[in-house]
Order: sequence, then structure tokens, then C-alpha cells
Amino acid sequence: MSGQILIVETSLCQRIHLRGVLESAHYEVALCRDLAAAARIAAEGPGLVLIDISRDTQAALALIAALRGSDDGAAVPVIALASQPAPELRLAALRAGADDVLDRRGETGFLLARIRSLLRVRDAAEDLRLGGGAARALGMADAVRSFVPAGRTVILTRRPEALPAGVAALAQRLPGGAVVRDPSGDFASGAGTVDLFVIDHEGGADNGAATAGLFRLIADLQSRPATRRAKALVVVPDHAPALGEMALDLGADDLVPDSVRPDELTFRVRALLRRKNQADSRRDRLQSGLAAALTDPLTGLFNRRYAMAELAGLTERLEDGGAAFSVLLLDIDHFKRVNDTWGHAAGDAILRGVAGLLRGNLRAVDMVARIGGEEFLVILPDTPPEAARRAAERLRRVVESAVLETGTGRQDTGGQDARVRVTLSVGVATGQLPAPGTDAVASLLDRADRALYAAKSAGRNQVTAAAISAA
Ligand code: GH3
Ligand code: MG
Ligand code: MG
Repeated sequence: MSGQILIVETSLCQRIHLRGVLESAHYEVALCRDLAAAARIAAEGPGLVLIDISRDTQAALALIAALRGSDDGAAVPVIALASQPAPELRLAALRAGADDVLDRRGETGFLLARIRSLLRVRDAAEDLRLGGGAARALGMADAVRSFVPAGRTVILTRRPEALPAGVAALAQRLPGGAVVRDPSGDFASGAGTVDLFVIDHEGGADNGAATAGLFRLIADLQSRPATRRAKALVVVPDHAPALGEMALDLGADDLVPDSVRPDELTFRVRALLRRKNQADSRRDRLQSGLAAALTDPLTGLFNRRYAMAELAGLTERLEDGGAAFSVLLLDIDHFKRVNDTWGHAAGDAILRGVAGLLRGNLRAVDMVARIGGEEFLVILPDTPPEAARRAAERLRRVVESAVLETGTGRQDTGGQDARVRVTLSVGVATGQLPAPGTDAVASLLDRADRALYAAKSAGRNQVTAAAISAA
């Protein structure tokens, strides 16, 4: 049912009217007249809910709260409808969790713009969400946030001395306060990023130049890196639905009339700040979760998955005439003995030590991955066979001559802190154009693996290069 718009409306006449409006805008619609049935349908996860709160108000508000309180419902936009809703009712609906409260006999164009805007916001939020299992595995499960962060709010206005009362009250009511700026100035400059712009627009829809300026401002905010993630709430003159419709379509997140009461505006602003903060932290967690999916937790090196993608990319570039690249497959010699002698924890410390030595002795463009227990892969872009062999020999020597900490605090037989030496065997192979129908990455790794095996067979602690085979 996702994507469908659920209309919960007691009046038959209104139900039919709304269905007509939505269907002619090509939305799929589900109709419902009583709240009990609505709760059942809502459980199936509609794309958006329009709900009449003018009759049986308490139950309707309870349904909104239930919708928003459920885990998945948090993302379902809800528009409450009432006949010329009084300020108290508006605030009660917003408090219950409605995204907006509209007059049920208001402009249908405006209703549709509001729906488009809410669906857009919902989709953007969905893009930052992962399924529960994946999110948890990556350490990204949503933390519940009920507090309003002290965000940075900028009020853009040309009439700082004559602000509508609701807007004027904002600065005192927000946890982080609000700064007043002129929209024609460099308003986004200054310390930190802005979380919310409150755009106070004084011209009516009949003032062409002012209207164009407003639309440009909204579009501009969304195009600049410093402001595009900020939320925008637009304050328009009362009875200017066409202006509001356009502002929403251009990307404004919320819209209120001049006459908005201070408590309602403050509530809306706090809700936007909370949502902005939630989106920011989701984005951060998504990014660190993705990084975690590509790295090896023990050593911090890239993992096999990342290395394979990198190799596939270099192979493609080779086919396009790119420079030769080489790989080194490195395996610690007799590592099992390290574990057997010093314990697994010491073995882990040695793996971290070797990883650090490899990383510290390569160019910034080279990539090191841990692709198995004690097996590493180094990718050397722009490196022909002989240079790769020299790099392998250098790494072999660095590791051979290093004394590695086990970090266990155990003493060796001479009474010294346990320190261990290990050696590496290395197989070298250089990327080649694939023979038709073959997997170039697999064949490259196979050549490196055979070279490594030869180094092991020849006595370990040495480098062997694969022969260049005829493609
Ligand atoms: P060779 O010279 O032939 O490579 O001998 P080896 O002992 O290094 O090779 P083998 O494949 O027999 O054993 C590898 C050992 O690496 C066995 C395993 O316990 C150890 N190992 C694999 N992953 C880890 C790890 O994450 N931590 C620790 N401490 N040891 C690991
Ligand atoms: Mg091995
Ligand atoms: Mg080994």
C-alpha cells in the first residue's frame, strides 16, 4: 500500500471531493470514514495520510499520535484537515505529530503542493535509512531523539523593525536563539552552518518582483553547498495560497501565514530543527557505516571487498589504455607458531604491527588491504613489474628487520618484554589485458598466488614475481 494516500474523512461529500482532487493528480487513494477502520488501513503503511480532525477530535489526534509513534510511522507524513481550524486546534494537531493542519475547504492547489513537498521530504529521509538489520550491523540504528538541538537559525527579512509577532518572538523562544539578516546580503556567512532559514516575505502574490525574489532565494539556498541541507520555513502574507504553493514546490520545507501565532511558529521551527538534526546524524552514520563496511576492523586496512573493486577499476582503465599496475600478495611466514607461542591476542597485535609497517612504507596512491587471516594485498597503481618487485623487496626487508610488540606484557625466556620478529613471503604480479572471455582480476590474483606459493616453497622470507603470460 506504500505510496497510496489514505483519506480519513467523516463527511461523504468531502471524501468524494478529496478523492477527485487526488485522483486527478494521479495519486492512488484509499478512503475511510471512521477512525477504527483508518487505524487498520494505516497499519499497512500508506504513503501519506489526510485526516479530518474536526469531528471526534480527540480520537483523531490519538490516531495521528499512534501513527507517528510507531517505528515505521515516523516516516509517514500526516496532514490534518479541519474547517477553519482555530489556533488551539492547529497546535494540538501539530503536537500530536501532524506535519500540517489545513482548512478542509481550502485551495486544492495548495493541498497538492503540500502533499508533493511532504512526499519529497519523506523520500529524502528514506534515502538515508537502511533496513533494520543492516543498520544495526553497521552500528547505524536510529537513536531516539526527543530533544531539540540548539541549531543555528537565521531569519531573513527586509523589515527587521516590523517583523510579524510570531517571527519576532522566535529569537527568545529557540534554544540556540536566532540571527536576523537581510536576504540581499551575504547572509550565509559567519561561523558554522545554518540549520534553518526563516524567510519572512512581505510582498503579496501581485508583487511580481518581490515574488520572483522569493523564489530565487529559495532556489539559491538549495543550490549552495553551505545552505542546501538547511531547512527553510517561509512566512507569506495571509491569503496568498498561490505564493505558498510555489514556495513549497521550489523546496521550502514549511510555510506559515503572517498571522501565525508565536506558539505555533515556535513549535514548527523546533520540529524542523529536530528533523534537520536527525537527517544530519543519519547521514553521518551512513557515511561511517559505509566506511566500516569496506575496512578490516582489526588493522584498519581496507578489506577484500574494497580491494576487489579497486582491482576491477584498474583493470578497466588498463583496457582503456591506462598505465600498468601491479599487485603484491604478502603472507606472514609460520604465523601459526606466533599464535601457538604467544597466544591469539599477541598474534592480533603482530597483525596490526605488520599492517602499520606496510602502510607506512608505501606511497599515498598505493592501497593495502587485509584479505585473509595473515594475508595482505598491496595494489600499486602505475607500477611496472620491475618497480613492483623492488617495492616488494623493500617491504619484505622492513618487516624482517622490525621487532614487533605483542602487547601482552608477557616476558620472553631472557626476561625481556615479549617482542617478536616475523618474515613475509611475497608474490608479485602485474595487471595484463584479459584474454577474451576471461576474468582479468581472477587471473591476476591467481598469478600472484602462484608466485607466493613459489616463494614459500623456496624457503619463505623472499619475493617471487610471476612470469608475464601471453594474453
Ligand atoms: P606459512 O608460512 O605456510 O604461511 O605458515 P602459517 O603458519 O603462516 O600459515 P597457516 O595458513 O598454516 O596458518 C595461518 C595462521 O594464521 C593460522 C591462524 O590461526 C592465524 N590467523 C588467521 N587469522 C588470524 C587473526 O585474525 N588473528 C590471529 N591472531 N591469528 C590469525
Ligand atoms: Mg596464509
Ligand atoms: Mg602464513
